[in-house]
Amino acid sequence: MILCLRISAAFILVLSLAGVGCSNDKAASAAGETSAPQSASQSANPSTSPAKAVEPAGPALHIDAARAMQYTKEIVAFGPRWDSSKPIEQVRAYIKGKLKGVQVEEDSFVAETSAGKMPMTNIVAKFPGSKDGIIVLGSHYETNYWLRNTPFVGANDGAATSALLLAIADQLRGKKLEGYSIWIAFLDGEESFTREWRTNDALWGSRHLAKKLQDDGASKKVKAFVLADMIGDADLDICRDENSTPWLEDLLLQAATHLGYQSHFFASTTAVEDDHIPFSHAGMPVLDVIDIDYGYNNSFHHTVQDTVDKLSVESLKISGDVILETIRLINGMGDNPPRAPQQKVPS
Ligand SMILES: [Zn+2]
Repeated sequence: MILCLRISAAFILVLSLAGVGCSNDKAASAAGETSAPQSASQSANPSTSPAKAVEPAGPALHIDAARAMQYTKEIVAFGPRWDSSKPIEQVRAYIKGKLKGVQVEEDSFVAETSAGKMPMTNIVAKFPGSKDGIIVLGSHYETNYWLRNTPFVGANDGAATSALLLAIADQLRGKKLEGYSIWIAFLDGEESFTREWRTNDALWGSRHLAKKLQDDGASKKVKAFVLADMIGDADLDICRDENSTPWLEDLLLQAATHLGYQSHFFASTTAVEDDHIPFSHAGMPVLDVIDIDYGYNNSFHHTVQDTVDKLSVESLKISGDVILETIRLINGMGDNPPRAPQQKVPS
């Protein structure tokens, strides 16, 4: 994902007075800190207005966070898993091996990246529900191609969230879900192939899947695309993302509050460019559950410091359980959660 530096409102003021913009090589804009989440009544636009408090539907589920940590360690143990490496094939086999007995679709394609043609594969596990509609959960699993000559293993960036989705799959497996179907998408090619972020040289797997859902009409059934990124950080600090759908952001905070974890949410607001963007362009409501503040001054992000010792079982538990509770709230919203306008997904 890409982000600008998370900076305080006061710092933005200083920058603007000095005529300095957000010139980080990573593109998104920062909106500064907010001291409190927005109230549910601030917007009148039905496609963007935050949801009112809703009752959760269906049984409460909790992940086995210790197992999620174990999965994280196992993914990391394969080594750097950049596209076209041997370990990325091993990680794909590992993910599929953990999804035995589940309906799994592998979608292989070739991305025309700045580093040449790259074979990529999205892996989508499908858990049928009893309501007509789909909630898609996503995470990327590869590590950055431009870091391929380093020991960068992306413990938090790709491994922990893929592990988290596998731990969520463990809770869904073999159950007839009371609410919407849940699809779990292990996405390839999120990272930009160049050190400097280029949107058209990144988000390969998410652009591919969003376009596929749009082309085959399934996007109309998607009630929410929920992305997990960088949320194994022991110092868990999930931001409000301005590129996510406001009513989903509000549900996320409601879910966190139900579980007593709200202190880990929304101390800051930032616009993040990540795998949720193509789904948003395709008209699907989107939510990026992301902690963009990883290590002092984000110093562990995209560095060899991104290792398992920076993560915690507790953070995986909070992240996993809040996502599962958010799903219960989406199911509690009734049949027609608000939708955003649809655009063509850039390929
Ligand atoms: Zn990354």
